[in-house]
Amino acid sequence: MTILSSTIEAMMNETRLDGNAAAGPLSELFARDITTALATCAKCGRETPVGTLFDYGQAMGVVLRCNGCEGAMLRLVRTPGSLRLDPSGVSMLIVATG
Ligand SMILES: [Zn+2]
Repeated sequence: MTILSSTIEAMMNETRLDGNAAAGPLSELFARDITTALATCAKCGRETPVGTLFDYGQAMGVVLRCNGCEGAMLRLVRTPGSLRLDPSGVSMLIVATG
């Protein structure tokens, strides 16, 4: 470990909080219309607005697929009492704030 990396790690440990501290920024993200966000496909790297992905809707939820390689990018399932999001097919999601 270099002096720089140990210094950065020490600084991170001093400011470590739990996930509740991120409630504000996370609510800012999830309260928006995500269809305008830019999503990068984890499989092929194509960046495209979520609203242009292919929607393979099912009774229990939706699967949004890349409009380049058709890889599954977002899976949203409704279960009794919850919504479950699997974003593993997205390597980056960019939400404009202004
Ligand atoms: Zn793709």
